[in-house]
Amino acid sequence: MANKVVAIDGPSASGKSTVAKRVAAALGFLYVDSGALYRAVTWKALQEKVSTSDASRVSILLQNLAITFYEKEGIVCFKIDDRELKNEIRAIEVNENVSKIAAMPEVRSQVVVWLRDMVRFGDLVMEGRDIATAVFPNAEHKFYLDASEEERAKRRFQEIHDGAEKITFTDVNESLKRRDAIDKGRKMDPLRMANGAVKIDTTGMNIDQVVQFIVDRLKACVF
Ligand code: C5P
Repeated sequence: MANKVVAIDGPSASGKSTVAKRVAAALGFLYVDSGALYRAVTWKALQEKVSTSDASRVSILLQNLAITFYEKEGIVCFKIDDRELKNEIRAIEVNENVSKIAAMPEVRSQVVVWLRDMVRFGDLVMEGRDIATAVFPNAEHKFYLDASEEERAKRRFQEIHDGAEKITFTDVNESLKRRDAIDKGRKMDPLRMANGAVKIDTTGMNIDQVVQFIVDRLKACVF
């Protein structure tokens, strides 16, 4: 029988990552952070001083990218040039450029191939922007997480503040808005809720409540 996929989409700082990780652990599925792949391509372009507006150069970079996938501690991970990427893909410069790179059709087509191939590792909980609309449109279980703009900016500010980077709340809010606008406005597979997805407004909910809601719903189905 084919491996199962739970798709969780939504805008930046809607709580997807934490929720998806916890849902995966509760179900014994593997967790996939699809945004990490767009971030990694962006990081590599910045490293190689390839302009993040130059789609043909980014495409060449992609063709030559040495990427490998493996499973570790319940997560489908990857290495680039035999190196695991951690905080470097969360840097401000990556945040500011990733949506431009992710809007390039050449990049999306390649990342979708990588993501679809991950079912070989097992049952998956995959989070992103287009998982239920483009990567696995036939996934049986689709969720769309959202939260008010203010709540999302607060959460992201808190995260960054914990990391002790010097950035104001207004900067965080503006950066999120810029990224959302590109993600929702791009031509190929823009961020939107898929047909049949269950929408969860996480404003005013804590992580436990969102995880419980999803797990209960999944357990109620013949899974
Ligand atoms: O989820 P995260 O914020 O790490 O994603 C970084 C960026 O990658 C998003 O702002 C979006 O531009 C892109 N992305 C995407 N499709 C996905 C996941 C992420 O376009 N499935």
